[in-house]
Amino acid sequence: TDLEIVDVDALIADALSHAQIPAEAAKTYLSSDGPSGLRVRGDRGLLLTALDNLINNAIAYSPANSTVSVSRRLVTDADGREMVAIAVTDRGIGIAPRDQQRVFERFFRVDKARSRATGGTGLGLAIVKHVAANHDGHISLWSKPGTGSTFTLSIPRVVPDDELLASPSIEDHSTDRSQRGGT
Ligand code: ATP
Ligand code: MG
Repeated sequence: TDLEIVDVDALIADALSHAQIPAEAAKTYLSSDGPSGLRVRGDRGLLLTALDNLINNAIAYSPANSTVSVSRRLVTDADGREMVAIAVTDRGIGIAPRDQQRVFERFFRVDKARSRATGGTGLGLAIVKHVAANHDGHISLWSKPGTGSTFTLSIPRVVPDDELLASPSIEDHSTDRSQRGGT
């Protein structure tokens, strides 16, 4: 895969522009918020595919006149890593607790009989899960039936070079290691 530094603002902007026509068709509003300037390392095309899947689901499983929001923020995960968390939130039908793990399985759909205009094969979230894992990140889900869902894609942050230079911990490491030789 092609690894590159990916600007999260531009990534989300692209995903929102892809979502514009489906959102208009479903009469769903799109919004986004969060700090700018966050960056991750990865395959931009795959990350965009993952976001497209999450946003398309949010639109497909929500009623008309509801809002789908895409927010980004910096969080520290359980291992102490700084992660960029991109959360896609809808006020849609939600997912029952018993199905919340299973939606990430290939071909799993909560209600196969429900004839949604969108159709679908049940692969979208399996792809999102793979993209997260391939980027050393993870996907998490909060959902409540009748209230809505939030899918959060977390990817390790790339620290800008200037912040790296200014970081005391990096300076400490370089003196601790005493790589200057001789003495
Ligand atoms: P496709 O392969 O076209 O994405 P799909 O949307 O059915 O088809 P997934 O994206 O993998 O497949 O989602 C699996 C199932 O999880 C969906 O069929 C739906 O039942 C449920 N689901 C996914 N996202 C949401 C959401 N935002 N709100 C409610 N249910 C959802
Ligand atoms: Mg889908």
